[in-house]
Amino acid sequence: MAPAEPAVAAATTTTATLPPPPHFVLVPFVAQGHIIPLVDLARLLAERGARASVVTTPLNVARLRGVAEQAARVGLPLELVELPFPPPGSGLPDDCQNADMVADNYQFLPFFFALPELAGPFEAYVRALATRPSCIIADWCNPWTAGVAKSLGIPRLFFHGPSCFFSLCDLQAANHGLHERIAAGGDEDQHAVPEVPVPVTVTKATAPGFLNHPATEVLRDEAMEAMRTADGVVVNTFLDLEAQFIACYEAALGTPVWVVGPLSLCNRDVESTASRGKTAAAGRQQAITAWLDEQAPGSVVFVSFGSITRKLPRQLFEIGHGLEYSGRPFIWVVKEPEAAAPEVREWLEALEARTAGRGLVVRGWAPQLAVLSHRAVGGFVTHCGWNSLLESIAHGVPVVTWPHFADQFLNEQLAVSVLGVGVPVGVTAPVMIFDDDTVAVPREDVVRAVSTLMGGGAEADGRRRKAKEYAEKARRAMEKGGSSYENLTQLIESFRQSGGKEG
Ligand code: UDP
Repeated sequence: MAPAEPAVAAATTTTATLPPPPHFVLVPFVAQGHIIPLVDLARLLAERGARASVVTTPLNVARLRGVAEQAARVGLPLELVELPFPPPGSGLPDDCQNADMVADNYQFLPFFFALPELAGPFEAYVRALATRPSCIIADWCNPWTAGVAKSLGIPRLFFHGPSCFFSLCDLQAANHGLHERIAAGGDEDQHAVPEVPVPVTVTKATAPGFLNHPATEVLRDEAMEAMRTADGVVVNTFLDLEAQFIACYEAALGTPVWVVGPLSLCNRDVESTASRGKTAAAGRQQAITAWLDEQAPGSVVFVSFGSITRKLPRQLFEIGHGLEYSGRPFIWVVKEPEAAAPEVREWLEALEARTAGRGLVVRGWAPQLAVLSHRAVGGFVTHCGWNSLLESIAHGVPVVTWPHFADQFLNEQLAVSVLGVGVPVGVTAPVMIFDDDTVAVPREDVVRAVSTLMGGGAEADGRRRKAKEYAEKARRAMEKGGSSYENLTQLIESFRQSGGKEG
């Protein structure tokens, strides 16, 4: 919450009168960038004595088995709850249970429109509990949880994955009819986002928002309505990173903003970094760490574009050439479907041969936190998904910003213009989840951005210094007595009284 918020009285309750631990039911949107931070939050809640249940689809439960087993071993009250998906008649393949399993742009609409059908099984699960949960924390993209919470009289917070800077811009854009003005204007017009404490401009291409496509407007309206009727919001950020935007967001929203991040810092050991999101291939984390151990401190650039975006061969080749010609040591994550085509497979093998000892291509899921926390890593080429950006900042690693869609262009503005930790690669237009065959970023731009990020000089040193300062503040925020730690205490105490009634 914002700094001026008074501590809740319940924090001083004595043990003798303490009601039972509150039970939080967390409902992430089924995409890695949404599941991962909510599972981290569930872990933190459980570590702090609350009961936490994460509700998701069977495929995601299977991916999170490592997290659940680790929690069970140390006796944490964290459970995974499985709801059936996809519903019959949705036309989706059986394994299409996470945004990263959507095969093409056309499958996205059926995927999004099938999600509200989780409401029935979700309500049945909650009703079957012996006692009512204290609070439902549901992703902004899961507005179908609002009706269930309301009908059962359970308080509901929404979790919004992006930065408060983005969420504030998005909310002010909605409050002030910015989207309508943008739609009526020309493609090149620059529009100022109103009532944000720093100058922010967007174009038609970079305007803020999730579900902004005309076909998903109805879902966006439902999400905005569920946002306005929630009892508050939980955000993965920290006070010293975004204080002015947190305060303005709380004022504009009119409900508490619980700021409890960076959530990724709850992963303190090799096992939890290795199993985060889904377990990386056997031995991969050790192999990557061993490779990084051979590199000079701060010398390696890490390149990864989150869990959803996919690039076609022409763009992949430009990235590869750019990394090769930059002359810097690199780790580049190429997703399995991207690397599957024979011409890509061969091309990557040839690249690895040419850059042997200096370049490492990871095919498939990478243990991103383990990489970012290694002392050899000095820069990150990122698509500016908020988790990736915040994980980088939390480990003191400056970034090259290459936004693709949704909140990412605004996250770029935050990183570059406000926080001073980013070098833009220079993209001005979004791409859908699956790139079209145009080359958005040629190799020369990759070389320029990577060289600027990893090179010397006052500006580059300044970015590195700022990133390290934010990392130190992030660490302190999550320690006992730190702002995020204390906010989580208040959050738990606030809901201690609201649950536990007979189901
Ligand atoms: N991630 C990972 N390994 C990968 C790709 C992604 O661990 O190979 C994690 C990353 O650390 C982050 C999340 O997946 O926590 C991606 O979230 P983000 O918001 O950055 O991007 P999105 O996937 O939502 O576009």
